[in-house]
Amino acid sequence: SDATEKPPLVLLIAAPRGFCAGVDRAIEIVERALEKYGAPVYVRHEIVHNRYVVDALREKGAVFVEELDEVPDGAPVVFSAHGVPKSVPAEADRREMLYVDATCPLVSKVHRQAERQIEKDRHIIFIGHAGHPEVIGTMGQVDEGQMTLVETVDDVAKLDFTAGTPLAYLTQTTLSVDDTADVIAALERRFPDISGPKAEDICYATSNRQAAVKKIAPGSDLVLVIGAPNSSNSLRLVEVAERLGTDAHLIQRASDIDPQWLEGVGTLGLTAGASAPELLVREVVDKLGEWRTVEETTIMAAEEKMVFKLPRQLLD
Ligand code: SF4
Repeated sequence: SDATEKPPLVLLIAAPRGFCAGVDRAIEIVERALEKYGAPVYVRHEIVHNRYVVDALREKGAVFVEELDEVPDGAPVVFSAHGVPKSVPAEADRREMLYVDATCPLVSKVHRQAERQIEKDRHIIFIGHAGHPEVIGTMGQVDEGQMTLVETVDDVAKLDFTAGTPLAYLTQTTLSVDDTADVIAALERRFPDISGPKAEDICYATSNRQAAVKKIAPGSDLVLVIGAPNSSNSLRLVEVAERLGTDAHLIQRASDIDPQWLEGVGTLGLTAGASAPELLVREVVDKLGEWRTVEETTIMAAEEKMVFKLPRQLLD
């Protein structure tokens, strides 16, 4: 059919969206490790939570495993952007493995804060989502029993510490800014002496992507978030839109879009989680263009200029 027959669709594209500096760096680490050491380079856990990224690196010779015991002796291994418990580099050292740590520097910062709080003899309350690799990694910076995980305000009510126990809290980097503020407020009400980080642990990329969704969701009939179902920051973007009363769907690729979703939708919001490549955004825009005459506008919530240095071992 003629392009002019397609009904119009106003597309509000959130900015910032997609790759953050930590994801950029993690992918570049795997690519450089492949160049420097040759394939195969093993990667412990999905380097970032995106199937497209993982498949592309696998094509180039990366081999993804969940644990170090799956890596043969003598093969190089990269640790994912989410960070690892201390036991992982310890095991790699014991086996004299060649490893490169792609942990995002903003996650490593939380790891160091955890160590510092333990040095001050404080018990740590960690706000995060059970089972997420970043949470496993951060909790694995301290000894068993030194850190307690809470996810919600209800979990805070259930905490049971003897009076006078020195406490500190830290958070996962990819949480909901609003929910976390509520959990921190609940912690401070129950434990007025609790110490917290000087600067927020939720990273700039997570906050900016949520702020951008807050700008596009109110004027949109539907919001699409490109991201993986195991990507914490992507799931939070869906929630942010829904909290503002706008329907939202998480999609991995353009092919996940059900054309029925677009019935009655005049304005569509679009964003992508921190581990989703821009190429997938373009794929979605092209797909929408098959059905509708798309009028694209970028809605900017913040500018990002963050770049992280690569590990020195990959620079020569
Ligand atoms: Fe680092 Fe934030 Fe990106 Fe996670 S989302 S890799 S903490 S910059």
